[in-house]
Amino acid sequence: MNLILMGLPGAGKGTQAEQIVEQYHIPHISTGDMFRTAIKEGTELGLKAKSFMDQGQLVPDEVTIGIVRERLGKDDCKKGFLLDGFPRTVAQAEALEDLLNQLERTLDYVLHIHVDQGLLMDRLTGRRICKNCGSTYHLEFNPPAVEGVCDKCGGELYQRDDDNAETVGNRLDVNTKQMKPLLDFYQGKGYLRTINGQQDIHDVFADINGYLEGISK
Ligand SMILES: [Zn+2]
Repeated sequence: MNLILMGLPGAGKGTQAEQIVEQYHIPHISTGDMFRTAIKEGTELGLKAKSFMDQGQLVPDEVTIGIVRERLGKDDCKKGFLLDGFPRTVAQAEALEDLLNQLERTLDYVLHIHVDQGLLMDRLTGRRICKNCGSTYHLEFNPPAVEGVCDKCGGELYQRDDDNAETVGNRLDVNTKQMKPLLDFYQGKGYLRTINGQQDIHDVFADINGYLEGISK
């Protein structure tokens, strides 16, 4: 079961990834984790990646793809994998296709969890944090009993700069633009399955499961 998970920030990828891992026992491979592991293990590619990151530069594709190759070659990927955060560009998607060919594997699905951008704005800008104890709330999903006041300690709640409408809007715009050519690419290849992420999380997983149950490997 070889899968890629896609979706904008706040679309619920993390929650769905956890459920897929639990049900199908394949590793959830996020780009961040992959880099951190390669750096921690001190692999040649990990050290190369680190030297770019330390200089605040983007890690070049050849290094990233090498790290993906190492990761997909590990034992826990024999039954499959769930890639998250890679590929980010069509060039990386093409490189992944070559890599999978070399490994004599093919993708099964690219699962795209879709949520309207307006709804994501609500989800992502609703977070509030207690100045005093750090407890987190959400105006919609986990509101405090009294507006602006922490339930636990009575401290004042505030919004992080990262969560303000302008920052969140920019982040969503950038991600949408980046994702579009990839979605088109995978649509053209027949791998793309778009899932309605605006339903209850159990229903989102039921839809994903509907596709995955059909894969028998
Ligand atoms: Zn508090």
